Amino acid sequence: MSGSALRVVVVYPDLLGTYGDGGNALVLARRAAWRDIPVQLIEATSDGPIPEGDLYCLGGGEDGPQVRAAEAIRSDGTIVRAVGSGAVVLAVCAGYQIAGRSFPGADGRARPGLGLLDVDTVKGEGPRSVGEVVAEPLDGLGDIALPTLTGFENHGGVTRLGPGVVALARVTTGNGNGDGSEGARAGRVLGTYLHGPVLARNPALADLLLSWAIGSTEPLAALDDGEEEALRSERLHAVSRSRFTGRARS
Ligand code: GLN
Repeated sequence: MSGSALRVVVVYPDLLGTYGDGGNALVLARRAAWRDIPVQLIEATSDGPIPEGDLYCLGGGEDGPQVRAAEAIRSDGTIVRAVGSGAVVLAVCAGYQIAGRSFPGADGRARPGLGLLDVDTVKGEGPRSVGEVVAEPLDGLGDIALPTLTGFENHGGVTRLGPGVVALARVTTGNGNGDGSEGARAGRVLGTYLHGPVLARNPALADLLLSWAIGSTEPLAALDDGEEEALRSERLHAVSRSRFTGRARS
């Protein structure tokens, strides 16, 4: 983090705003402000340059806008440079695929991503992955142990992880990457298929990203997460109930 306020940047909400993932930046900004950490929330639309930031949020989007967003982010260059200087990235679904090395356009042809994550996405052969996801975090997230991850997915892509990344979690309900794993991380770049927004459903993940961005090795001060916990239990309970009744998870 440089300068006086933590700069949280929502990248291209006009192209990558289909699934409400802009809420992730709001969660980050609020959780920082509640702890008296000075914070600036910046919406960077695709008609202008991407500003310097400490924490970039990329969201999900449809295939066409996803290709346009990837091309514009690549030619802009700011995010890749900022990651080289220590910026944090949370990339969700289309954003996750864009952060990888390649992903398919609407025609199935591979398009170049940003290369921030050693993952390649291809079009899946089965039906689109749609519905609730529950995933158990793996060890790759450093010292802070996260609780069960909850979110929902809606994507046609299947993501293969290379040796340069670690998976975030093991899927127990849903598809995630498509091989039983969910998401990927390399350094301070974290990609996931989880919408929700994911940080509203998983505040511990929000705090992990904030601690990376402000350079804190100590856990951040606890907040009253009663409402977030109620949302988590409701969603996790809905998944176990649909398992019990045999209803489709969506
Ligand atoms: N267009 C991509 C896919 O279907 C990403 C979808 C999304 O962001 N939810 O795989």
